[in-house]
Amino acid sequence: MTSLEIVEQSGNRIVVRLKKIPLQYANALRRICLSGVPTFAVDDVVIIENSSVLADEGVAHRLAMIPLRTDLSRFVEPSACDCHSELGCSRCRVLLMLDSGSSDTTRTVTSSDLSSEDEVVKPVSPNIPIAVLAPGQKLKFEAYARLGRGSEHAKWNSASVAALIDGNNPEEHILTLETVGSLTAAEVIRAAVDELEKRLGDFQHTIATIG
Ligand SMILES: [Zn+2]
Repeated sequence: MTSLEIVEQSGNRIVVRLKKIPLQYANALRRICLSGVPTFAVDDVVIIENSSVLADEGVAHRLAMIPLRTDLSRFVEPSACDCHSELGCSRCRVLLMLDSGSSDTTRTVTSSDLSSEDEVVKPVSPNIPIAVLAPGQKLKFEAYARLGRGSEHAKWNSASVAALIDGNNPEEHILTLETVGSLTAAEVIRAAVDELEKRLGDFQHTIATIG
C-alpha cells in the first residue's frame, strides 16, 4: 500500500517516509515542495518618500526578501483570480504600509514597522532590517504582496530545504523538508500532494485528448 508517514515534525521542519512510491513521483513531490507551492512575497512597491541612503530599488528588493505568513485558504494567485485586474483585489493581493516619520536619532526600520491590511499575511519575523535611517531621514511606501511560485522567482520559494534519500525497503524514500515560515512544513507537503495530483490529472487529460 502506498503511504506517507510522518517520522518527525516541528513547525518549519518535517521528515516523512514515502512507502511504495516510485522514485520519479517522490522526486516530483520534492521539487513541488521547493518551488511549486504558492507563497506570499512583495511584488510591487510604491515609494512615497525615501530620504534614506538606499535607492528605491534597494528598498523594494529588501521587501521582496521578507518571508510573509501565507494563508492558502483565502487567497488565490492573480492569474486564477476572478478580478482579472492588474491592480488586484482583496482575494489576490495584500497591502503592507510603512511610514517611519522622522526622528532625532539613528534607527533601523525593520519588518515590525510594516502594517499589513490582512491579519494573517505579515512578516514571519519582526527583526528583519529594511533600512538604517540617520536623524531626519524618512521612509514611506506602500508594498503589494501576492501569491507566486519559486519556479517564477526564488522570493516565492515554498521551502528552503527539500531532500530525498532512500529508505530501508524497496520503493521507500525519506523526504526532509524545511521552510522559512511562510507555510509550515506540513502545509507545504499537503499543498504539494494536491499540486502533484492536479498536474498528473492535467497530463492524463492532455494524453487522452491527443489519443
Ligand atoms: Zn483579484
